[in-house]
Amino acid sequence: MRYVDEFRDQDLARGLAAAIAAAVEPDREYRLMEFCGGHTHAVFRHGIPDLMPSNLRFLHGPGCPVCVLPMARLDQAIRLALEHPVTLCTYGDLLRVPATGGQTLFKAKAAGADVRLIYSTQDALALARRDPDRQVVFLAIGFETTTPPTAVAIETARAEGLANFSVLCNHVLTPPALRAILASQDSGGLRIDGILGPSHVSTLIGSEAYRFVPDEFGLPIVIAGFEPLDVMHATLMLVDQINRGPVRVDNQYRRAVTASGNAKALALMAEVFTRRAAFEWRGLGVLPDSALAIAEPYADFDAERCFAVRVAPGREVKGCDCASVLRGVKTPTDCRLFGRVCTPDNPLGACMVSSEGACAAYWSYGRFR
Ligand code: SF4
Repeated sequence: MRYVDEFRDQDLARGLAAAIAAAVEPDREYRLMEFCGGHTHAVFRHGIPDLMPSNLRFLHGPGCPVCVLPMARLDQAIRLALEHPVTLCTYGDLLRVPATGGQTLFKAKAAGADVRLIYSTQDALALARRDPDRQVVFLAIGFETTTPPTAVAIETARAEGLANFSVLCNHVLTPPALRAILASQDSGGLRIDGILGPSHVSTLIGSEAYRFVPDEFGLPIVIAGFEPLDVMHATLMLVDQINRGPVRVDNQYRRAVTASGNAKALALMAEVFTRRAAFEWRGLGVLPDSALAIAEPYADFDAERCFAVRVAPGREVKGCDCASVLRGVKTPTDCRLFGRVCTPDNPLGACMVSSEGACAAYWSYGRFR
């Protein structure tokens, strides 16, 4: 298959592994953070750590939208579904994520709330069209990649006059989270030597959005695709920058990512959304300018304004290390609950539920140490 098989070629993978082994300096440690949960899964699915020299390590970042949603926002969605006569719809992973007290959207559904699993924003619009007397709320989460479809849904609802459709917006932005992670290095017990930059997000925002990584933090970043050869090639590019400099933004994923991103999608996002002054992230705390709210001209489609649901700060599960895992300070196996109490069948934290979560990756690909 084009763009898949050619990026999984075993001989090329062996060649890249040999090139990385030859490039790393034996007395140096290389700690590379993959920001995106998709990369974390790609790294383990293809056994890439086993092909790396022992002094090169991958650290896992916060790029999983389900994982970084704080308890309070999930509590808010659950209360909205339970306390208001609405149909609340969202993507599958979110239904099983534990909120305060172990509550989940699935449990809310079992208790009588009308919670629906959908595959796209178009499904949510279809529900609203089918039942005009019923309020349909789309619980929207995700980084920049999933934001344009939400914007299109809001635009469509306005164009069609769908007065019973609204969005509970939890869209977040990649650069502020990456900046917070990098800024936390001195105080947070973390040392990063280079960043594997997100691929899908970067198709939207472009590689220039990461200019601050070399300019402010003196670190290299390479935007990488999701296939194993992409990750290995980007790793080699990072090692080369670390060894020889100068540090810069490199783009390994040129077949999809440009310097300036997708102008049309960015314009649509700027039209429909506005930046929140501050937003809480699981693991990273409250970050300024790091999330989107629905802009004033579209206020009629903003579930936060339509349904006043205030919630207290959420309570994390005792012993769950998701916050530290999301900062790259701990690995999933550092968590005492990993594999003992917390498994995909009985997830205690978002990182074990989400298909992009680091704990789910360790479990799925047998990394128990
Ligand atoms: Fe949280 Fe479970 Fe991961 Fe521990 S293993 S950090 S409890 S998701």
